[in-house]
Amino acid sequence: ADHSYDYDCLVIGAGPGGYVAAIRAAQLGLKTACVESRETLGGTCLNVGCIPSKALLHGSELMDEANNGHMATWGLKANVELDLDAMMAEKTKAVGELTGGIEFLFKKNKVTWIKGHATFKDGHSVTVGDDTVTAKDIIIATGSSVTPLPGVDVDNAAGRIVDSTGALELSEVPEHLVVIGGGVIGLELGSVWRRLGAKVTVVEYLDMLLPGMDKDVRKEAGRIFKKQGMDLKLKSKVTGASVKGKTVSLTVEPAAGGEAETIEASHVLVSIGRRPNTDKLGLENIGIETNKRGQIEVDHDFRTPVDGVWAIGDVVPGPMLAHKAEDEGIACAENVAGQTGIINHAVIPGVVYTMPEFADVGLTEEAAKEAGHTVKVGKFPMMANSRAKANRDTDGFVKVVADAETDRVLGVHIVASLAGTMIAQAAQAMEFGATSEDIAYTCHAHPTHAEALKEAAMAVQGKPIHM
Ligand code: FAD
Repeated sequence: ADHSYDYDCLVIGAGPGGYVAAIRAAQLGLKTACVESRETLGGTCLNVGCIPSKALLHGSELMDEANNGHMATWGLKANVELDLDAMMAEKTKAVGELTGGIEFLFKKNKVTWIKGHATFKDGHSVTVGDDTVTAKDIIIATGSSVTPLPGVDVDNAAGRIVDSTGALELSEVPEHLVVIGGGVIGLELGSVWRRLGAKVTVVEYLDMLLPGMDKDVRKEAGRIFKKQGMDLKLKSKVTGASVKGKTVSLTVEPAAGGEAETIEASHVLVSIGRRPNTDKLGLENIGIETNKRGQIEVDHDFRTPVDGVWAIGDVVPGPMLAHKAEDEGIACAENVAGQTGIINHAVIPGVVYTMPEFADVGLTEEAAKEAGHTVKVGKFPMMANSRAKANRDTDGFVKVVADAETDRVLGVHIVASLAGTMIAQAAQAMEFGATSEDIAYTCHAHPTHAEALKEAAMAVQGKPIHM
């Protein structure tokens, strides 16, 4: 250790990027501290993101299974009644156990938790309240926050126009929830409240849901969410909102311009995206400028242009996902410790945790073609998968995109009840440089949903068995 500094490594932010980086740095023998301005550890993901949303998705899915006839299909006639306070309490309990778990891991690994907001003084020191903390290396892991929509003012306390944080703690089931933005967060939280009894309308600027995903997946998403009863208003933009008592009036215009209409809602969720947190971080004091999207640019090793200052997670370019932040946290800490930490940004899975789930890894068919590949595509419907058929959950398909010359798998796209779990196998195959033939000739247990991936890979080869 260099005794001229308080710490070898100081991490700013205790989200999945920061807390993981801090633990890894400590494991590698560095004297480490982590500054966090929130009351609890775990960042967006554990407090107001991945974890509470998945808890509510699970609870609401149980209700949906009872109410949408799925349980009745199995001869289980139930009359379920919602106790929203109890459901929220269970979600809060899950969050508390997980954030407390990070506190335990910090103690176990001897990471010092400094409570407060950090602002750079220079490249090796930050102020936190009245204190100055110095470190040889500093990792910025300040994450992201909700992007505001001009004309639509979020007020989570009032509970009418909310962002994702507010939508995770509504005190009543909305009569009519309008979701602005048909991306991952809007569709997940829209699904929660639809299952609990709300009428849900999704307003999306583009002509399809789930921007960034494969076209076939996006088409299927439109079909499935419509079938589930969501009202989809595509190619539309919300330009204003006013609240009167319990009613929100939204001004909605065609994306291409044209006549505006008014939609009335009891609740509105603004979910148009997230932006990096660099406010009051004092980046100007160390000469770091953000790019056009407000992100901090880093090199392959997660170094900023300032010596000893690194950055990871949602605050740097790339998909805003917890596992991407975590893996960057590990790699960055290893680099700080003088080892070689590497992330393969070409293989980062993404999952939408609705029912069915939507998951992908690697290139979409369109992106693969744009990148100059001649592609071979294999598709297998869940309808032809024996386990999905037995379970009566046959929505979706698996699509494998492979290079026509080398047969190397370029991307995998899955719509299925277990897509989020199935995509891990695809990611691992791609990480090992697998061909579609490798997947097709791997023995998969029967009957499992995962067999659909094997069959889709066989379809690339031109010879699925069950189709
Ligand atoms: P964050 O988790 O945002 O953590 C940054 C932390 O830094 C915060 O706690 C903040 O308080 C603190 N901080 C900021 N500035 C300072 C400062 N100057 N001083 C001290 N502390 C500071 N991702 C998934 O992979 N799967 C999901 O299912 C998923 N679901 C989501 C659902 C919702 C509703 C939302 C909003 C997000 C979801 N995400 C999901 C995204 C995921 O939460 C983020 O990608 C992830 O949290 C990013 O991690 P991070 O460490 O970069 O930043």
